[in-house]
Amino acid sequence: MENINTDNFSQAVISWQKQYGRHDFPWQKDRNVYRVWLSEIMLQQTQVNTVLPYYNRFIDRFPDVFSLAVANIDEVLFLWSGLGYYSRARNLHRSARIVVSQFKGVFPNRIEELQKLPGIGRSTAGAIMVLAYKKRASILDGNVKRVLARYFAIYEPINLGSTEKNLWRLSDELVPDKEVIPYTQGMMDLGAIICKRSQPLCERCPLQQACMAYHKQVQHVLPNREKQKEKPVRQSDFVLITQHQLVLLKQRPKVGIWGGLWSLPQRTELEQLKPQPIIAMGPKWLEFRHTFSHFYLDCRIYQATIDGLQALPMGWIWYNSSYSVSIGLAAPIKKVIRQWFLLESSNKSRSSS
Ligand code: SF4
Repeated sequence: MENINTDNFSQAVISWQKQYGRHDFPWQKDRNVYRVWLSEIMLQQTQVNTVLPYYNRFIDRFPDVFSLAVANIDEVLFLWSGLGYYSRARNLHRSARIVVSQFKGVFPNRIEELQKLPGIGRSTAGAIMVLAYKKRASILDGNVKRVLARYFAIYEPINLGSTEKNLWRLSDELVPDKEVIPYTQGMMDLGAIICKRSQPLCERCPLQQACMAYHKQVQHVLPNREKQKEKPVRQSDFVLITQHQLVLLKQRPKVGIWGGLWSLPQRTELEQLKPQPIIAMGPKWLEFRHTFSHFYLDCRIYQATIDGLQALPMGWIWYNSSYSVSIGLAAPIKKVIRQWFLLESSNKSRSSS
């Protein structure tokens, strides 16, 4: 291992965390494993300030693993709507069912078992072991990777498998035997509020004395990343069909973008309506680009009218946006619907005045 004193490292992190770290998140006040698990899943790829209102709403509605396990996935997706990466919500629901059916509602307390649950990777399993079970385990989320890559002045791109392996080894060796909670929370906090992606606050960092990036003054250029390929662009044509206060929606297939969420139907999907009604396509009403982690989706929204529509097939509904029906709507589509109804009501009030 690099020439470091692991005790000094962990002690510096622990003392700093106790004095300056974050202590008031709702999942820190009651560290039961369900709450820790939920917060860790929500915090994957998402900032803490975004997560907080979602977490509180989720806990209000699903206070324990039993209530989540018996819930309808539509309601779970509804409460997740806007948080993105919807496979996390579906995995959460699947995991809750497994925990209830196979473990009698008690989360496993072995890291190997935890990692078998859908949506729990090595780092999330490590965080649960530490924060809920107070056991020694390591984590390697984006924040911890950055702290370690800078502290050890690792120039190899951190998104390479070989570098990640090295970072896991370092992370593992640095975990102390005691006080694992303030240590692990400290590493998360350091990455989030001191060793930030841009403009790290080295002057306030408890690791500054031995930090190699700081001594070489390369903290602003590390960590390196292998350049990602340019994201491809896809296109989708959606159709906005409304009748009075109702808008026609279709549920997305479970796999794929916005999996399981409700959306405006795509133009080609209208063929599924049998017997085929008369659909008069109107002009393109709106166009926007939505960014996914691996591609861009250029969405074009067309208005259309429909006539002679009989019963809707499974997975189609007329949605009334003024009722707060608990369905998971894809966030950009929700905005489109809201925008359309706002426009409609302002047109109406103009024509009646
Ligand atoms: S000294 Fe600076 S670069 Fe080094 S770990 Fe601390 S904040 Fe990060």
